[in-house]
Amino acid sequence: MEQTSNPSANLATSNVGADFIREMLANDAVNGPYAGRVQTRFPPEPNGFLHIGHAKSIVLNFGVAAEFGGVCRLRFDDTNPETEDASFVEAICEDLAWLGFDPGEPAFASDYFGQLADWAEKLIREGLAYVDDQDAETISVNRGNFTTPGVDSPNRNRSVQENLDLFARMRAGEFTDGSKVLRAKIDMAHHNMAMRDPIMYRIRNRDHFRTADDWKIYPTYDWAHGQSDAVEGVTHSLCTLEFDSHRPLYDWFIENIGLAADRPRQTEFARLNLTHTVLSKRKLAELVGQGHVDGWDDPRMPTLRGLRARGYPPEAIRAFCEHIGVARVNGTHEIELLESFVRVHHNRFALRRMAVLNPLELVIVNWPEGLVDERLAVNNPEDELAGTRKVPFGGRLWIERGDFMVDPPRKFFRLAPGREVRLRAGYLVTCLDFETNAQGDVTRVFCEYDPATAGGQALDGRRVKATIHWVSVQHALEGTAMLYDRLFNDAVPGADGGDPLDSVNPASREVRNGVKLEPALADTQAGQVVQFERLGYFAHDLNDHLTFHRTVGLRDEWAKLQKRLPKPR
Ligand code: ATP
Ligand code: MG
Repeated sequence: MEQTSNPSANLATSNVGADFIREMLANDAVNGPYAGRVQTRFPPEPNGFLHIGHAKSIVLNFGVAAEFGGVCRLRFDDTNPETEDASFVEAICEDLAWLGFDPGEPAFASDYFGQLADWAEKLIREGLAYVDDQDAETISVNRGNFTTPGVDSPNRNRSVQENLDLFARMRAGEFTDGSKVLRAKIDMAHHNMAMRDPIMYRIRNRDHFRTADDWKIYPTYDWAHGQSDAVEGVTHSLCTLEFDSHRPLYDWFIENIGLAADRPRQTEFARLNLTHTVLSKRKLAELVGQGHVDGWDDPRMPTLRGLRARGYPPEAIRAFCEHIGVARVNGTHEIELLESFVRVHHNRFALRRMAVLNPLELVIVNWPEGLVDERLAVNNPEDELAGTRKVPFGGRLWIERGDFMVDPPRKFFRLAPGREVRLRAGYLVTCLDFETNAQGDVTRVFCEYDPATAGGQALDGRRVKATIHWVSVQHALEGTAMLYDRLFNDAVPGADGGDPLDSVNPASREVRNGVKLEPALADTQAGQVVQFERLGYFAHDLNDHLTFHRTVGLRDEWAKLQKRLPKPR
């Protein structure tokens, strides 16, 4: 593309080739009907909470608007009074702000109910819409299928006058739910099913959370969406691929109500799918309803609330969404990729702390009675400014049960009788003996420490292979750790055609009470993520003090997955 003197076009050309949407925007900035203007929208239905799929749409819509010097507005698609609620509006605004985008003064499709009804009357007057008395099932059957054309409704040729009258009475609440609909009069034999006289209005004698009992009829998505875009001055209406067959209808409505100049244009992109996850509000609601999780904000949920409780930083979610970009074909991304973005973020910013999840007592037999040594430990090796802290070290320590073996195999380098290990930021200790209970379980390990190894280095340069973490028994705080596994066992739940919920993992959460925490963890803030050394990143619960949720482990599962893939030639 040529450089031009239009500043917005110059800004736009820098993104050419980034993806097909940015390419289109850059082209439109120069050649399009919008005089370089870009306006997008994010249009959630207020019937549930935002999930990571919505984040992809948000990052795209707000992202391209910012890149092209345009605006993106939040618009609630509130056309189904049965399922929608003001509390969802509030939650969606909160979650959007948490993700890092400004909800501003949101718009609502219901703001345009009056305008939409006026436009519907215009279409009726022009013979382009009619009231149909057939019930939903008959309408569906008579629509035909891909190989069979539809059958005209007996009401299709009603007079304009009769249609205007019936429509007015539908509005006035004279009819029961489902007894009549308003349909666009397009073509019952159209090769595109979406064009076979689609429904514009259905009767719902029910209060709406914003318009109360003003309306007895509610517009369908198809009728409300493009017209709302047009009213607002949206230039690019970006939606997911399942709406591609609705695009001709989107255009038909806009053209036939006379908004053809400078009209919004719909473009479709692939939905986000993630392995071991479902991203449909209906399925997420079932997870909550059937008690597989504690609520929409359970740390196992892919909702923004769940991810937040789990310790996923908004920066990492945004970076993930930008990284995967947008494509024209549906695909599924590995959840390990998202996790790697989370891990990279926390590796840079999370404070390192010590916690023992499965404690075993280690006794230092030559430790001076009553002595407490304040050991200096680095808060974050990735960030010098994070400084150091003091960790009390005494003669009795908790170590991880898994870090000791009576009879270790060859490759186990941690503690075992006769072995020397490094206690992180502490000393080198050598195991002399251990004690067992009647069942033969190890109850205590006895070690000798080398006083000349403060900080973990031996003066004589002798090498110690393993470093283990610890917490002083005398100073330990007690807390709870929630350890998570995949919520779904199958990579693609429901791929076999069955119910995705059949693959729910019944052991997706393990609650560990009585975990031992170093004293500095008392200062952890709600939602703060710390690294428990050698164990993973853990998010402090948003309410319960000293309850931690494992966000992700330390190992890069994504890198491992990549290694397993065949190497490109
Ligand atoms: P669900 O199927 O979960 O109910 P939805 O599409 O009905 O999702 P809306 O509240 O209508 O939910 O979605 C608002 C916007 O978010 C729409 O533009 C929709 O295309 C987009 N969106 C929803 N889910 C995804 C996803 N998985 N990937 C990308 N965009 C999505
Ligand atoms: Mg929807």
